[in-house]
Amino acid sequence: MSKVGGTVVCPICGKAFAATSNNSKFCGPACKLENGRRYAREYERQARADGRCNPLNLKRPTYSIQEIGRAAQAAGMSYGDYVAKVGL
Ligand SMILES: [Zn+2]
Repeated sequence: MSKVGGTVVCPICGKAFAATSNNSKFCGPACKLENGRRYAREYERQARADGRCNPLNLKRPTYSIQEIGRAAQAAGMSYGDYVAKVGL
């Protein structure tokens, strides 16, 4: 489905803007940059949380840290143990 011509809400600043392409996600370069910063920060945090620095983790954005943390707790494991065992 084409988004061109429609309105997209920027996930960073919450501003609505006109989509100029199908992958318009941010209202401008500043928010795109900010998203990159947040993503890098999140990745760093995750890498530290599971005690290793595996770039492959970047390709698995399906689970949030909170979700994994909850699942780990439910399984009676630490976050690191859980991630190592389940291979998320
Ligand atoms: Zn924005």
